[in-house]
Amino acid sequence: MDRKETSVLLIYTGGTIGMIENSKTGALESFNYESMVHHVPELGKLNFNIDTVQFEPPIDSSDMHPAIWCRLASIIAEKYDDYTGFVVLHGTDTMAYTASALSFMLRNLTKPVILTGAQLPIKEIRTDGKENLLTSLEIAAAQIDGKPIVREVCVFFENHLMRGNRTTKINAENFNAFHSCNYPNLAEAGIHIKYENAYMLSPEEGKGMTLQNKYDSNVAILSLFPGIQEAIVKAVLETPGLKGVILKTFGSGNAPHLDFLMKYLKAATDRGIIIVNVTQCLEGMVEMDRYESGRQLLEAGVVCGKDMTIEAALTKLMILLGLNYTTEEIREQMTVSFAGELS
Ligand code: ASP
Repeated sequence: MDRKETSVLLIYTGGTIGMIENSKTGALESFNYESMVHHVPELGKLNFNIDTVQFEPPIDSSDMHPAIWCRLASIIAEKYDDYTGFVVLHGTDTMAYTASALSFMLRNLTKPVILTGAQLPIKEIRTDGKENLLTSLEIAAAQIDGKPIVREVCVFFENHLMRGNRTTKINAENFNAFHSCNYPNLAEAGIHIKYENAYMLSPEEGKGMTLQNKYDSNVAILSLFPGIQEAIVKAVLETPGLKGVILKTFGSGNAPHLDFLMKYLKAATDRGIIIVNVTQCLEGMVEMDRYESGRQLLEAGVVCGKDMTIEAALTKLMILLGLNYTTEEIREQMTVSFAGELS
């Protein structure tokens, strides 16, 4: 395809990249896309077409919600055939959740969906937003033999292209804000953009992208810690309407030997609540039969989350719960890779 026929859809949801200081309070708040691009004249030099969709008003990503993931996924699905690739400008705070959710909502994706943002607003002299935006657009437009090089949902930040559902925000200060936990980066941007083809998803062509935009957010995250009280465990696991829990465990999936913990976990799984074991560690894998302290969770009916990030496990669970699967099917699917989210 001719570069001039190449088109990227840029979706601006909000985030620091497009924020400006409130003159009275000094706090950062979102401003519109037109003013933002005014600070990036380089956009006009790219030799492919860029169309834009703007969220009105732009949002701080702390206000992100599954309904907005559905809206985003629907925009991409509606315009899927018209564009070579998609770039989503998004706040960094919950970018890893949105990237994970989109990777489960856009099934059989064969085009790039690149999420990016910035730690410093684009109007600041030292902004990281310009590079992030321009390189993300280049990646979304990149093709070989008429086919997109990247065919999955990614996060691009500070020179690294990462599988979106493997990322976690790890730094609130540095430009290097994201880490791909348990999976190598998919590309590095220096003088050239070096793609690691061996690590990228190679989805089957011709199946057609399908949109899966249902969810059920009756879920919770229960993080274990030394000294956790029975009342906390009971309150979380007996929450009315609760359907799924991400249990954040120690190390390779271990939990303290507490009778009350096992009692409430077992009672919850017996009631059909799906409990998924994900480690509190940034890297490494849950192996529930490695220690007795992990094995007891298996006996209580807890599902192994392997090496999924919290963001991937939580969004996957919400989306599976939104479908008409049986509890057993969801338990099974939580352990199988949909979009490269687990090893
Ligand atoms: N609070 C901002 C947001 O997530 C932070 C950022 O964009 O870096 O929208």
